[in-house]
Amino acid sequence: MKNNLYIVVPCYNEEECLDETTKRLTKKLDNLIKGGIIDKKSRIVYIDDGSKDKTWEKIESFKSPVIGIKLSRNRGHQNALLAGLTYAKDHADVIISMDADLQDDIDAIDKMLEKYHKGYEIVYGVRSERKKDSAFKRNTALAFYKLMNKLGAEVVYNSADYRLMSKRAVEELSNFEEVNLFLRGLVPLIGLKSTTVEYPRAERFAGESKYPLKKMIKFAWDGITSFSIKPIRMILWLGVIIFIISLLITLYSLIMKLVGNTVSGWTFIICSIWILGGLQMISLGLVGEYIGKIYAESKKRPRFIIEKIVGE
Ligand code: UDP
Ligand code: MG
Repeated sequence: MKNNLYIVVPCYNEEECLDETTKRLTKKLDNLIKGGIIDKKSRIVYIDDGSKDKTWEKIESFKSPVIGIKLSRNRGHQNALLAGLTYAKDHADVIISMDADLQDDIDAIDKMLEKYHKGYEIVYGVRSERKKDSAFKRNTALAFYKLMNKLGAEVVYNSADYRLMSKRAVEELSNFEEVNLFLRGLVPLIGLKSTTVEYPRAERFAGESKYPLKKMIKFAWDGITSFSIKPIRMILWLGVIIFIISLLITLYSLIMKLVGNTVSGWTFIICSIWILGGLQMISLGLVGEYIGKIYAESKKRPRFIIEKIVGE
């Protein structure tokens, strides 16, 4: 049985990468079709995430097997990816998502398909090494995976959004209706039979990372707060500890009063005011973050809007 494969690629300002990416992906598809592994109706789906450069013009100029989806504006990597997956699930039997910058090793697709044919519904691409990433990016990323797992969100260690999903898996994914989208945490929640495939992470083919430090921190923070309420629980424990300390301090001050030693202690009071005030603000802010999440979810705004589709 041959399968219809759709490769979903979100693109944001990727005009420098797209020619090469298209060349390599088309070649890969051709080989797989020739090998009788996938159906000849297989496609590459580019999602233009509101790029400001010539990305969309480029996508429009490509011929079959490329399909282009233009989002109405920039909605971020995760939403663009979801748009592509949602579209692909109606046409394909098996879907692979990857980045446009060729950092994900295209040859891992063969290994992923092999696993799929063995009956796996989800195959995660796991980076075997990331020597090409800067030490800073590598270390912060690894720390993030560890932290996520400590806080209770199941994230496949060292895997990003390069993965294979069967039609069935993507259909289940589309039942998760959350607006705070963090696919790396959501996909493991689907369950189903899953496995991993290792690949070496390459350097970006061209252009700059679309994830500067600020966006990375936001992404990590969104991931944590969408999947764990442990931060709030930690604040609760902090409150308990401070309360216990306050009992001791009350005792101390009563003793001082009885002894008649009540005038000194200015430093002590100033420190208490600032430390407690700061902790309270942090706590309020943290709780506020979660309320913000509820606010966004309760409005149920659409996660992406498709402006047009070409190449169908
Ligand atoms: N991307 C996107 N929308 C955005 C930012 C990024 O669709 O708002 C795409 C980008 O074009 C690329 C993928 O997401 O295909 C990953 O981005 P990038 O390679 O810049 O991230 P990094 O590999 O540096 O983490
Ligand atoms: Mg990249």
